[in-house]
Amino acid sequence: MRITRLLMLACSLFPGVLLAQNFPTKPVTIIVPFAAGGPTDTLTRNLAAVWGKQLKQTVLVENVGGAGGNIGVTRGARAAPDGYTLLMHHIGMATSQALYRKLDYNPLTDFEYIGLVADVPMTLIARGNFPAANFKEFLAYIKANKDKLSYANAGLGAASHLCGLLFMTAIQTNFTTVPYKGTAPAMNDLLGGQVDFMCDQTTNTTGQIKGGKVKVYGVTTLKRVASLPEVPTLNEQGMKGFAVGIWHAVYAPAKTPKRVVDTLVTTMQTALRDPDLIKNLALLGTEPVPQNQATPAFLQAHLKAEIAKWGPVIKKAGVYAD
Ligand code: ASP
Repeated sequence: MRITRLLMLACSLFPGVLLAQNFPTKPVTIIVPFAAGGPTDTLTRNLAAVWGKQLKQTVLVENVGGAGGNIGVTRGARAAPDGYTLLMHHIGMATSQALYRKLDYNPLTDFEYIGLVADVPMTLIARGNFPAANFKEFLAYIKANKDKLSYANAGLGAASHLCGLLFMTAIQTNFTTVPYKGTAPAMNDLLGGQVDFMCDQTTNTTGQIKGGKVKVYGVTTLKRVASLPEVPTLNEQGMKGFAVGIWHAVYAPAKTPKRVVDTLVTTMQTALRDPDLIKNLALLGTEPVPQNQATPAFLQAHLKAEIAKWGPVIKKAGVYAD
C-alpha cells in the first residue's frame, strides 16, 4: 500500500518519467519539411512503415513544406520533447546555417539526434522533350539559351537548391530559378514542361527516368548508381570532382528524455535492417546507412563536419536569404 502511494506520488511529481518508461503509447509523427510525394517524403514513408512495426505503434508522416524546408524544421524544433513528434531532414540542416542570415532554429542546440538514415544520390534531369541527347549537348544548349530556361528547386536550403547552385557555379551560368514546396510539385511542372530542368534525388527521379518521362544527363555522385547503371556520372563527363550526395537523418526536439531517445535509436536501427526496406530503397537508388552511422553520436559529429564543409562553399557562391 505504502509503495503504491509512493509510486503514485513519484509519478505525479515526475510525470515525464512514467511517460518515458511506457513510450510509445500512441502514434508517432515524423515531420517531413517538404511536399508529399517527393524524395524526402518517399524515404520517410518507407522508413515509417517498418519503424512502426518495431515501435508497435503507427508512425505517421506530416508534410510541412516551404522556405527550403525551414518551416517544417522549425516546427520539429518547437514540438513537445516527448518523442511523439520527430523530424526527418537532409543535408539542408547543415547548409541552411550559411544560406540564411536568420534561422528560427539552431541545428546544434535545438535537437536530440537519433541517427543518419540514408545517403541519396542526385540526378540532373530535364523535361522529356528537352532538345539535347546527351550531357555535352545539354551543356551547349543551356549556355546558349540561358535567358530562356528555368531551373526548378525546392527553395533555398533544399538539396535541389544546393545541387543547382554547385552546378551553376561550376559552369559559371545562371538561370531563372523557380522554387516549390518540394520537388514533387516541381516534378509535376517539369513533366508538364512549365520548367526546363532540375537536380533531384533518385528517390524521386528513378521512376520518371526509367519510364522515359524525363531526360537524364548525369548522376551527381562519384560512383554510378546501381539502379541507373546506364547513366554516367557528371564527374565522368568532364565535371571533375562534382560530388553531391544527400544524407538524411532523424531528429527529436531538444530535451526529449534519454530513455525515449534510446528507444527511438534502437528501434530505428532495427528498422533500417528490414529486408523490405533495403529492397525498396535499392530500387530507388539508395540504401540504409550502416548501423554505426544510425546513432546520435555519429549524426552529431557528421552535422558539425558538414556545417564546417559547406559554410565556406556557400559563402563563396554569395547566396543569402534574409
Ligand atoms: N528533398 C528535396 C530537395 O531538397 C525536396 C523534397 O523532398 O521534396 O530538393
